[in-house]
Amino acid sequence: MNQPEIMERTDINDMIAIAIDGPSGAGKSTLAKRLARELGYIYVDTGAMYRTIGLYALRNGADLSSERQVSALLPHIHMQLKFLDGEQHMYLNGEDVSLLIRTEAVSMAASAVSAHPPVRAFLLDTQRDMAKNDNVLMDGRDIGTVVLPDAPIKIFLTASAETRARRRYEELIEKGQEVSYEAVLDDINRRDYNDSHRDAAPLKQAEDAVRIDTSGMELEDSFQLLLRTIREKLG
Ligand code: C5P
Repeated sequence: MNQPEIMERTDINDMIAIAIDGPSGAGKSTLAKRLARELGYIYVDTGAMYRTIGLYALRNGADLSSERQVSALLPHIHMQLKFLDGEQHMYLNGEDVSLLIRTEAVSMAASAVSAHPPVRAFLLDTQRDMAKNDNVLMDGRDIGTVVLPDAPIKIFLTASAETRARRRYEELIEKGQEVSYEAVLDDINRRDYNDSHRDAAPLKQAEDAVRIDTSGMELEDSFQLLLRTIREKLG
């Protein structure tokens, strides 16, 4: 099978991994990106990898709930991650899909395809390899539990569904997308349900993760709290 390819890797060992997991819209990617920059780590957004597969499945009219149909697409997916100016770009069969994967339709498709074990297996080795080659700050749903269970630093970042929907709604409106708050909240609730009730690598807090709830917190305060927590753990 055509495993995703990682560009620009180095060959240094003894890398440190920071795992940040949590539900959709907890501010993970915004915070993780900034934390990685501050700490000099490579930021790996694993959700973008699932979104890329979701986009391909949508484009090909697959029944997203069918493991057989979605798995049959995997050999046709050539996924590349390129880090350009510290930003992760996703390439799908040579096309930069970094912006296209940010719609609500693709969010739902990513959530659906990510429930299929062959999809998770397709991405697992790539994600693990990335952590072998660089100091990474990886965000997702199962990083601390499945992908990097030995990561020395694990954070479970969460917030109430309403807080997360409000933030996501404002982000989408800012990007010029036409959505209603109710629809976004509904999507968040459905994705939460899908992500935490699936059999394969469900969203759950790792036993050794530090839980941080950002409901009612400003982004800057969440950032400072996370940075302090990570720095204390790094020693
Ligand atoms: O993080 P993001 O919202 O971009 O992820 C999109 C979807 O991909 C999630 O709703 C989840 O279903 C799936 N996902 C996953 N495991 C990860 C990262 C994302 O199942 N490590």
